[in-house]
Amino acid sequence: MSVGRLIGAFGEALADLLLPELCLLCASPEPGPWPRRLCRRCLGELGLCDPASSCPVCGLPAAMATFGRRRCLACRRRRPPWAGLVVLGPYQGGLGRLLRRLKYEPLRAAALPLADLLAAYAASLRAAGELVDVDLILPVPLARDRLLRRGFNQATALAAGLPQVLGAPLRPGWARRVDLVHQVGRGRAARRRLAASAFQIDARVMGRRVLMVDDVITTGATLTAFAGALRAAGARELRALAAARTA
Ligand SMILES: [Zn+2]
Ligand SMILES: [Zn+2]
Repeated sequence: MSVGRLIGAFGEALADLLLPELCLLCASPEPGPWPRRLCRRCLGELGLCDPASSCPVCGLPAAMATFGRRRCLACRRRRPPWAGLVVLGPYQGGLGRLLRRLKYEPLRAAALPLADLLAAYAASLRAAGELVDVDLILPVPLARDRLLRRGFNQATALAAGLPQVLGAPLRPGWARRVDLVHQVGRGRAARRRLAASAFQIDARVMGRRVLMVDDVITTGATLTAFAGALRAAGARELRALAAARTA
């Protein structure tokens, strides 16, 4: 760890000690108690979307989906390699700011309110009969250099509240990124195989139903590659939960 990072981490820990109860978005002294480190007003302005009115496959909100829990046009045309994806909301506004603090400062505490919200979403999905049969929770692994630079995988921090709600273990050690030798595949299938080979999956995922967790879904390419690697390793049913999605 570089001296700069060490001082940064120390400063962050010190700020947490001195100012333990400030809202992460507006520094109001009255956050929480739920979700942690977020005040009521900022929670209201987070732009959360209702999973009940989003496409169950890509997580996009109602405006872009068709009706209720029905698949949107794009997902009906080309089905992604997972059975369902739920996001807290679009990657903008307060949700975007929290995620940028988490990833780029990087401020680990910014995961606290998001982990609380993801756990609440998981609980309500479970109450509605979804996510009832998850065997295993896997955060999308970070590339090694990013993991070293940031010191933590934000997806793992976001998934922290899920095991308790879903009764399934969180196993960040069961998936790793591997450095690929650059090589251009010709067709789409070849490219997909190459992308999936960027992940090394523990053989114990065989036959298990996996919930993948990520911070932000942009093109969906990473999640698609991760899903491909999990399938190749014998995972049975894939679902995904993410904090945000670019619209
Ligand atoms: Zn606030
Ligand atoms: Zn969709």
